[in-house]
Amino acid sequence: MSAIPASLRLANQATILEQLLSRKAASRAELAKATGMSKPTTGKIIDDLVAAGVVEEIKLVEGRRASVGRPGKQLRLATGRPHFVVMDLGPEWTRFSALPPSPPEQERWQVQFKTPTTAEAWLERGIQGAEKVDIKRPWAVLISTSGVVDERKARVLLSPNLHWSEQADLPWMVRQVWPAPVGLVQNVRALALGELGARSDADDFLLVEIAEGVGGTLMLGGRLYQGPLPMSGEIGHTPIPGNTRACGCGGRGCLETLASERGMIQSHREAKGQGVTFADVARAAERELPAWMRATFDAVATCVGAGLNLYGVRRAVLVGRITDLPAPATDYLIGAIQRAALWSRFDAVAVTLAPKRPARGLVVAGIHRFVMPVDWSASNASAQGNRAPR
Ligand SMILES: [Zn+2]
Repeated sequence: MSAIPASLRLANQATILEQLLSRKAASRAELAKATGMSKPTTGKIIDDLVAAGVVEEIKLVEGRRASVGRPGKQLRLATGRPHFVVMDLGPEWTRFSALPPSPPEQERWQVQFKTPTTAEAWLERGIQGAEKVDIKRPWAVLISTSGVVDERKARVLLSPNLHWSEQADLPWMVRQVWPAPVGLVQNVRALALGELGARSDADDFLLVEIAEGVGGTLMLGGRLYQGPLPMSGEIGHTPIPGNTRACGCGGRGCLETLASERGMIQSHREAKGQGVTFADVARAAERELPAWMRATFDAVATCVGAGLNLYGVRRAVLVGRITDLPAPATDYLIGAIQRAALWSRFDAVAVTLAPKRPARGLVVAGIHRFVMPVDWSASNASAQGNRAPR
């Protein structure tokens, strides 16, 4: 038995996994240095993680290392056998894959089908699809879904575009297919987790999705901010002065009614007449920005800037349809957000456009929720229960 208390060992293990999530690979010495732990402590934890299949050791080919000396062994999150099932349950499509602990660089889905309109039909399609993925006993199944999601109770509280998910016991349904713990992740939060480790300085940021809706998520110190309520980051429902449009939430004047895909199409139609699509909106932004678009992006910047100012965060990441607009539009929005952040008077405020990475984000969620708290070295029943005994 180790002399280190179990709780401390778990905390140390989490610190090492956090390091491996934020860098692609690291040597034992680098991990010891970065975490401030002794080399024996680091070594013991790494051996346990390797034995459990969470981490793997790779030999670097000589000459690829910048420093002289013997070729180092590097560690990284395991890339081989799949241990998680990640699932994107969207209003239109359901997609899933079995993936290893290493968060994927490319989004890939092994199974995809049109999301049925009933829970029963969805379960049936899921059972059929499960035969196509190579996993029998996953460590966990992670599901990204939209709407208001109570992640702690694994329930969807409100989903205007997928009403059956509100009544459905998704964890129970998934366990008809795989005997594994199930985690729900609100879809914008999954996108924010997908940004972790994708950039070197992306531990603190506000992610904003501007698509069918407008939502946000705050990442602080590499962990999703979780408030006391099962809803947070809802900047899309901030009322904008002068805006009288009715919102799906029951309120009036919400940012979402202006800045969502539908809101922008409506504004362009009001300015130009009938028969407008999002492609027309994009074309209109190629030359001089229409006045409505400037006003809309100023409103977005006010809300995003307030979030950055409130939390003391200097990076905003924008995802969704907004990234499809031409440079004059996105440049205007980026500049407006930067000006709205007080930190821009002192130093750089980074506003970047990013692709959606839900599969990557769900693997990170799997590591955070189901691997970090587990004591892999102890042979107790609960730890064994989460392991894949194959
Ligand atoms: Zn609203």
